[in-house]
Amino acid sequence: MSSCVFCAIAEGGAPASRVYEDDDVVAFLDIRPIARGHTLVVPRIHAARLEDLDPASGAAVFRAGQRIARAMSRSELATDGTNLVLNDGRAAFQTVFHTHLHVLPRWTGDRVRMGIGLLRRRPHDPETTAALIRAGLDRLTSEEHP
Ligand code: 5GP
Ligand code: ZN
Repeated sequence: MSSCVFCAIAEGGAPASRVYEDDDVVAFLDIRPIARGHTLVVPRIHAARLEDLDPASGAAVFRAGQRIARAMSRSELATDGTNLVLNDGRAAFQTVFHTHLHVLPRWTGDRVRMGIGLLRRRPHDPETTAALIRAGLDRLTSEEHP
């Protein structure tokens, strides 16, 4: 199995609450979410830093992040907004060196603050939460192909 935890998840060798996958990316819930539904999108091809990421792979990561954000707003999570965040390098708080995009769901008045949120993280019923996001993605697909 890969020594990189996100490669291991992408390859199916390590557990994660998956919400989405395609040929280029895998998306799963963050193990220590800042908010319910906090999702990570990772490219299947390992890239430690942003500078290592093939731009086509980066486009696929962003495309999936945008889609998951839209799905969250249509899911029972009923989000009002999203922070898409990519921490590149230790100086920017990167801790897992397989580039990833955080999809952080937001609600009006939720008072989430990135700094404090990073300290006060707890899981929120990950299997149910992942299922809600997958249902939002299905809803999105049926909107697009009625
Ligand atoms: P970074 O600080 O590198 O931008 O974010 C890394 C994120 O990965 C953190 O939010 C952390 O909670 C999450 N994380 C670290 N290890 C694992 C893991 O094994 N599984 C999952 N699902 N998330 C992880
Ligand atoms: Zn990796």
